[in-house]
Amino acid sequence: MIRFHQVDKHFGQFHVLKGIELQVKEGEVVVVVGPSGSGKSTMLRCINRLETITNGELTVGGLPVHDRKTDINKLRRDIGMVFQHFNLYPHKKVIDNITLAPMKVLGISKAEAEQTAMFYLEKVDIADKASAYPSQLSGGQQQRVAIARGLAMKPKIMLFDEPTSALDPEMVGEVLDVMRTLATEGMTMVVVTHEMGFAREVADRIIFMDQGQIVEEAGPEEFFASPREERTRTFLSRLL
Ligand code: ADP
Ligand code: MG
Repeated sequence: MIRFHQVDKHFGQFHVLKGIELQVKEGEVVVVVGPSGSGKSTMLRCINRLETITNGELTVGGLPVHDRKTDINKLRRDIGMVFQHFNLYPHKKVIDNITLAPMKVLGISKAEAEQTAMFYLEKVDIADKASAYPSQLSGGQQQRVAIARGLAMKPKIMLFDEPTSALDPEMVGEVLDVMRTLATEGMTMVVVTHEMGFAREVADRIIFMDQGQIVEEAGPEEFFASPREERTRTFLSRLL
């Protein structure tokens, strides 16, 4: 589904991604961890071309993202993204936040979009808030709406960039639960997170990034029990 091959990214002189090699198969859940500033968000944002890569090849769902000729809208239709800050439209009701893109981008009718929206709101357990405004919801509820909004586009891939980092601790669990369910149902997911419990339990693979490089890549058991690289060990020891 996703293949990075020798991907480099520069911001001007700054070399932010260095020789990234990464493959994500259909249905896989890959968790990306690493210190702040290591390039995790940038790597994620390259996948739907919110950032353009400087060198190398990046293929997503068979589409060459590095190729300027690739239809960017077609690419983005298949990728849902959830951010740390939920980015809901504050002046629109929950349900209208969700129906907007399917109606505009996929051209489906309002009635059908609302039916789909309710289906996903029920899935994230917040259907009773369909007519509320985002400001009337807790952070955890808003993030679940943001996830429902992503799902309503029926994406093939979901990207999560620290989806629980802005939440009060008591709301982290409800968002992780939704993500765990998605993973169980076979969604292809790339998740940047500091939630090591989630990583250990849900990830098929964990990627450790430092200074723009993938330093280590392993299954969760091996990653936590016997990391090979010194930098990984240092990172993990600081979390305890
Ligand atoms: P992470 O998500 O791991 O914290 P980021 O991908 O956000 O790291 O950032 C990696 C590095 O790239 C940081 O040093 C950051 O300051 C820099 N960076 C990110 N976005 C930009 C940008 N648009 N322009 C210049 N530098 C950037
Ligand atoms: Mg980041």
